[in-house]
Amino acid sequence: MAGVFPLVELTLVGFHPGKLVGDGAECSKKPKNDEQQSMRADVLNSDEENEEKSEFHKLANAKIFLSDCLACENCITSEEAVRVFQQNQKELFQVLNLNKKCDTSKHKVVAVSICPQSLPYFAAKFNICVTEAAKRLCGFLRSLGVHYVFDTTIAADFSILESQKEFVQRYRHQSQEEYALPMFASACPGWIQYAERVLSSLVTPYICTAKSPQQIMGSLVKGYFAKQQNLSPDKIFHVIVAPCYDKKLEALREDFYNPLYSSRDVDCVLTSGEIFQIMEQRKTSLKEVKEVAFDTLFGGIKEGELIRHDGRRSDGYLEHIFKHAAKELFDIDVKEITYRVLKNKDFQEVTLEKEGETVLRFAATYGFRNIQNMVLKLKKGKCVYHFVEVLACPGGCLNGKGQAQTEDGKPDRALLRQMEDVYAAVPVQLPENSEHVQKLYQEWLEGIDSTRVRETLHTKYSMEKPTANSFDIKW
Ligand code: SF4
Repeated sequence: MAGVFPLVELTLVGFHPGKLVGDGAECSKKPKNDEQQSMRADVLNSDEENEEKSEFHKLANAKIFLSDCLACENCITSEEAVRVFQQNQKELFQVLNLNKKCDTSKHKVVAVSICPQSLPYFAAKFNICVTEAAKRLCGFLRSLGVHYVFDTTIAADFSILESQKEFVQRYRHQSQEEYALPMFASACPGWIQYAERVLSSLVTPYICTAKSPQQIMGSLVKGYFAKQQNLSPDKIFHVIVAPCYDKKLEALREDFYNPLYSSRDVDCVLTSGEIFQIMEQRKTSLKEVKEVAFDTLFGGIKEGELIRHDGRRSDGYLEHIFKHAAKELFDIDVKEITYRVLKNKDFQEVTLEKEGETVLRFAATYGFRNIQNMVLKLKKGKCVYHFVEVLACPGGCLNGKGQAQTEDGKPDRALLRQMEDVYAAVPVQLPENSEHVQKLYQEWLEGIDSTRVRETLHTKYSMEKPTANSFDIKW
């Protein structure tokens, strides 16, 4: 993997609809050989406890690459494939190099937003704590010519708060609205792409409409921040550093694009591994880089201590929505959440009892096999959950394919364990307690229940499958 801007073998871990569509899903792409065929047949039957070798990893090991999956005639257009591929280190350096030239009309402000699940990767790689990794990564990016480095936790705050609110509304209206429950989480682009492009109207009405943290960060940087800095959105080049490749495709969504300025809210997504490649190429160890605090969206103020959300392996949607709903709907304070492991450690449930009755039943469903089982249950009318946190990667976002694999493309379990340990040490903060979030609701969004909130923080899901050209890309 190391080298000067190599042609990356992109394996979208969360997005392999073309290979694993199960009962009820439609896809014209046929498995290539018997091994893959049998994997497909196993999907709904396997109940091995703690099965770590996920379907995604099996596919990765079986050398199923992005071109096999996304170039499937039904799932991605040729234009999207080109734009996914263009989002690489070269694109960032093109902008940084133009900024060094005399023609100022071509200069752009370069802002990089880092997902909290990417930071443990750098901490584990360089054997430092997450806070130090964040500061040194910020220093490294600044040394390349990046102007601002943000933490996307603030965007996840908004996404969680909006999801909580929507869940309570859906729960209250469940007897009047056919598609109110279960509510599926909307933060994972691998899951959303699969739901929209393969499962379509079978599940899209059940997906929470709150935008993902990446999409909200895009609105914050190209909307709020651009205005504060007196810049038009097209004068900012916004890069996201993320644990997976799926976010590259998410950046291309229609509601991420401002036609007035021909500007995308996120111009380029780079994985943690791609940033690491830049360090390798420059022979830079993060340990030797000067520490610089993250910027905030509020001009000169620097970000304080790093915080994370409640989830152990994700942004904590399940935990936050569960506690909020217990209080809001049943006036019960939940301090600790107890998970019950079901078929495997990536399929767990949490329940709330009141007067002998189960009033809330939530599930965390990670990895393709568990998602398939959940969808099958929904199709048969046997889904018993009120909320499901769906993540395409087994083990959650720390296990994103853009960071948790060895150089030869295998799952790096030792690195994953290290990442889990350092991530757990980051202090937790409730999104409700963020002063910056409250300030932005008032100043930028005109209140917490405004039309602006609905327009800026929520999205719609497509129910149409894209008409794509048949083409063959070699990554
Ligand atoms: S689970 Fe997280 S890392 Fe994996 S595809 Fe979804 S968002 Fe990306």
